[in-house]
Formats: sequence, C-alpha cells, structure tokens
Amino acid sequence: MGFEMKGSQPVRSILDQHRIDPECPECGATFPLTVGEARLNPTRRCPNGHEVTVDAGELDRIARSVQRQVEEMLKPRDGG
Ligand SMILES: [Zn+2]
Repeated sequence: MGFEMKGSQPVRSILDQHRIDPECPECGATFPLTVGEARLNPTRRCPNGHEVTVDAGELDRIARSVQRQVEEMLKPRDGG
C-alpha cells in the first residue's frame, strides 16, 4: 500500500485524503472527491452539471471503515 509513514500521520488526515468519487444519481457520471472535501461542502456538481449531495451517513461509514484499515496497518504484526 502507498501510505507514507513519516512519524505518526494522524488517521484524520489519511481519512481526509481518502477518495470517495461519488456517482451522480442523474446521469451516472463519477467525479473525484475526497472525504475532506465532502465534509467541507457535501453538495457538489457532477461533470454534467447535476447537483449531487454526499450523504453524511455514507461519509460516517467510510470514515469508520478507513479508520479500521489504518489501525490494522499500524498494529504490530503477530502472525495470523
Ligand atoms: Zn450528472
């Protein structure tokens, strides 16, 4: 995996850079968006100009799953 481990990068900053690339419900186009950007402004426009609102519950679910992955990566390995 491509995470840089310089010192202790806070989980939050890894999460903010996590891409969610939402899909427009109108036309099905996807566009690049990170969790951090969606937190700042969950309402975005797809490449075709439709308004797409990222669901806060969806963000929470992504946040938990990314956090779990990062914690797993930071854990010392003991077989298994
Ligand atoms: Zn669209």
